[in-house]
Amino acid sequence: MVSRVIPVDPFDLVVFGGTGDLARRKILPALFRRFQAGQMGDSSRVIGAARSDMDAEAYRGFVRAAIEEFDPQAASDSAALEEFLGRLSYVALDAKGTAGWDKLAGEVSAGRIRAFYFSVGPGLFGDLAQRLHDYGMADHDSRIVVEKPFGRDLASARALNRGLAQHFQEHQIYRIDHYLGKETVQNLMAVRFGNMLFEPLWNSQYVDHIQITVAESVGVGGRGDYYDRAGAMRDMMQNHLMQLLCLIAMEPPAKFDPDAVRDEKLKVIRALDPVAPDNVVRGQYQAEGDKPDYCTQVENPDSRTESFVALKAHISNWRWAGTPFYLRTGKRLKDRASEIAVVFKEAPHSIFGAGAGRHRNILTIKLQPNEGIELGVTIKEPGPGGMRLIDVPLDMTFAEALGPDSADFPDAYERLIMDVIRGNQTLFMRGDEVEAAWAWTDPIIEGWEERSEAPQPYASGSAGPDDSLMLMHRDGRRWREIKP
Ligand code: NAD
Repeated sequence: MVSRVIPVDPFDLVVFGGTGDLARRKILPALFRRFQAGQMGDSSRVIGAARSDMDAEAYRGFVRAAIEEFDPQAASDSAALEEFLGRLSYVALDAKGTAGWDKLAGEVSAGRIRAFYFSVGPGLFGDLAQRLHDYGMADHDSRIVVEKPFGRDLASARALNRGLAQHFQEHQIYRIDHYLGKETVQNLMAVRFGNMLFEPLWNSQYVDHIQITVAESVGVGGRGDYYDRAGAMRDMMQNHLMQLLCLIAMEPPAKFDPDAVRDEKLKVIRALDPVAPDNVVRGQYQAEGDKPDYCTQVENPDSRTESFVALKAHISNWRWAGTPFYLRTGKRLKDRASEIAVVFKEAPHSIFGAGAGRHRNILTIKLQPNEGIELGVTIKEPGPGGMRLIDVPLDMTFAEALGPDSADFPDAYERLIMDVIRGNQTLFMRGDEVEAAWAWTDPIIEGWEERSEAPQPYASGSAGPDDSLMLMHRDGRRWREIKP
């Protein structure tokens, strides 16, 4: 399978925070891979901008080291890497001051696509927007990309939106949720709306429940300070899991166009019922061997921040009334595995009698570590001995089904950055979506604070706290095993 690469129009991309962790690990390697693939036209350029005082040559050395560290395979193409580095320059500036801004304005060319990636803390978003305006770079055709977290509650998200809206219109603002750039997440829309097979069954009449799991096996790592102020609810549930929920639950948009898709997602969020306290479980991981517990790792012995959250959500609309959505995410769990499982109801009557057991179809959309789709189908167990039924997977791991090249599809950041240049906002969150998501999660978080609720401890390497298992058990259901 050979994928088609269509070069994008020439662009200047300024990466504010171009010396930061995210730029090193994700943004710059992603740009290099798109360059290697031939998508980054002949004259496009990348300009790093950050506080560190260095010249363009030093920045090229910095970027070379980052790509060698985080994508050694791509970096082994040294001729391409040198050519890519030749497209880079650097401006030292202060987002809050005036130093460096004249130079940046001189570096960015008029008459071509100008994109500004805000890979800095949200506290600087307003300053950057203001400076871009003051120095004449915020024209109607320029665009800005903002990283998560987009606020920490509804009030702060609104303030951020207001700050950006002073100088940029909504069609110029690209709020990144890198989950939306994953191949399988987009495939979810193709599966739902490109096949006749699923959509007629995609409702509470046929679907028993839906499970969304985003499990990580690692702890908070080096981002302890940030994480302890956020927690799993703010860091993962309010954005990544809710976005997945929207794509699974939304009505078919009239067309695959940014606002048509985002209108439908917004309707899902607005139809979510408030979550009762006994439908949410929080947890915090304990120590295991030489791995410290959560509080030690974030250097806050009294921390009440959750590293795990599970909840049961209901969408009050015609399609989903009565079908629960169970969502969970956490760190230091059994495995790194993310998936969405659509669990269909059992057949209304078994002609095979009680001995055949209970069976149902499960459509699983796997997001990581391997992307793919699996449909559990009930068949007769082969061989003699009567009619015994077993469930077997119809498995479509993309790398196997589509050939070895398919493993090379662009990662989320590659796709999303190219979408910014192409001016396609379908896979980015709109301001009202982000605000609606906070409006739903705020009362849950406020409830914890009002009740001074501490998270439940859970064993590292487990499936989370016991109450999370109970969330399902008391409904006569169970979580799927966390496995890749
Ligand atoms: P970082 O602390 O590693 O880097 C911050 C960057 O911002 C540096 O380049 C620094 O020079 C620059 N900077 C800071 N203050 C500045 C100022 N006043 N003027 C100009 N430049 C300034 O941060 P990071 O981890 O790269 O994160 C960047 C953003 O991306 C944050 O909003 C973060 O929440 C988000 N994010 C990071 C990750 C990740 O894995 N690192 C993942 C998702 C989202």
